[in-house]
Amino acid sequence: MPLLPNNPTPPLVLLVDDSATQVAVIRDALLAAAEPVRLSVAGSLAEARAWLARNTPDLAIVDLQLPDGNGRELLPPPGTSPTFPIVIMTGQGNETEAVKALKGGALDYLIKSPVILSGIPYIIERALRDWGNIIERHRAEGALRESEERFRTVFSTAAAGMVVLAPSGRILQANPAMCAFLGYSEEELQQRTIAEVTHPEDRALTQQGYDEILNRTRESLHYEKRYLHKDGRIVWGHASVSCVRAVDGQTSYCVGLVQDISERRRMEEALREANRELDAFVHTVSHDLRAPLTPILGYAQYLKEHLGGDGDAESRHCLDQIVQQGERMLALMEDLLDLAKVGHLPLPAEPVDSAEVLRESMAGLAGAIVASGLTLQVGELPCLRLPRTLLMQLFDNLVGNAVRYAGATGGPIEIHGERSGALVRLQVRDHGPGIPEAERERIFTLFYRGSTGSALTGTGVGLATVEKIARLHGGRAWVEETPGGGSTFCVELLDPLTAS
Ligand code: ADP
Repeated sequence: MPLLPNNPTPPLVLLVDDSATQVAVIRDALLAAAEPVRLSVAGSLAEARAWLARNTPDLAIVDLQLPDGNGRELLPPPGTSPTFPIVIMTGQGNETEAVKALKGGALDYLIKSPVILSGIPYIIERALRDWGNIIERHRAEGALRESEERFRTVFSTAAAGMVVLAPSGRILQANPAMCAFLGYSEEELQQRTIAEVTHPEDRALTQQGYDEILNRTRESLHYEKRYLHKDGRIVWGHASVSCVRAVDGQTSYCVGLVQDISERRRMEEALREANRELDAFVHTVSHDLRAPLTPILGYAQYLKEHLGGDGDAESRHCLDQIVQQGERMLALMEDLLDLAKVGHLPLPAEPVDSAEVLRESMAGLAGAIVASGLTLQVGELPCLRLPRTLLMQLFDNLVGNAVRYAGATGGPIEIHGERSGALVRLQVRDHGPGIPEAERERIFTLFYRGSTGSALTGTGVGLATVEKIARLHGGRAWVEETPGGGSTFCVELLDPLTAS
């Protein structure tokens, strides 16, 4: 292997020595060595300086005692790093001088004895190897410094909060964004643990998460939690935490990235509150309006029957209209009440058999089914944890619509469902007129009645209810075209508790 691993040319060595005998010993030793060396000799400081002004050696071997001064003068000025390695030669008993030279930046020293000088090839080889290692270490240290500098810049300028935590949870470092998020200075945070700035109700969750990443059950943590701001406010953060481990595998520290999501949470809560109020409003209005409507319809019915064939045609027509419009209004109230109920019913303790609920729904729709002349084909149906009332609303609406809209030739109506892990999909298919593509999304909005519905009475609430049930249970509802024509309604719901 060449003496310079990355360079096949023999190393250039400058020997600064005024003793012709010593130079001759060194030259002979080098000539006898296996690896060649290019040797230049300078007999004084002045000659060496002149040579160095034109060349840079791979190594310099410098005698301390030179005719025009001390060889140490060739060492780099204090505070600067040497650009090439220098090995000092000193006489026996003059080691203190050599130590001074080492402190001044020399790589090594050697004692001028015939035995040592004849071993100069090994000394050169070792010096070049040591120098190579030093250069490599400097390069690695430089790269490390650069990467630390980069991390420090990211840490101090990041828009997201960043914290470095000891395995005990104590905060070791916090960046300006984290300080602003929690309202503390970095010094104040360094006197606290992450638990102390976490909302009391989220501390157990936080502890559990940290335990899991510390004992390696999980690689990293990603969760939303509440923190306590210095001024007592609750602030929401999305935290991602992972551990940095030392070579022995022990956790050295944890790094957390915290995104301020307080505003999003506030808006979500406001939206939930608005929805709750809207549901309560719809519920109250439809309930309270239904109360006087029932006797109004009853009296109109009574008058109709009481008049019988008497009375003029105009009055009888008016009464018919009162009953007809009143019944429409009643249907609307019922539908709106059902819609308002969605989202307020607790999940059942046990899974509900959807086949059984479908049978009940079909019994309720029996009159319409018989009148339509359509047949129903029921396939596999799963058990799922969804309030029975909501499952009933799904079937009432989807099967009811298929029976109403498919037309005499739109059968059979096929109903089936399946589970895949936590996801449950229910499907109701007919072979009726289908739904124009432009309307397929809009039919799920409240009060929207499609072109297929214009000839029939309806409220436009049914599919909005189906969509709301699916959405509030982590899924969605949509319609596809049945191959060959017709509508295929699909509802997906998440039911992780029953997942097999
Ligand atoms: P409604 O039936 O009271 O109009 P829905 O919300 O249940 O309200 O349905 C919205 C619209 O979707 C209906 O007006 C109808 O145009 C269309 N629709 C629903 N189901 C079907 C179906 N199976 N085939 C064709 N059109 C349908």
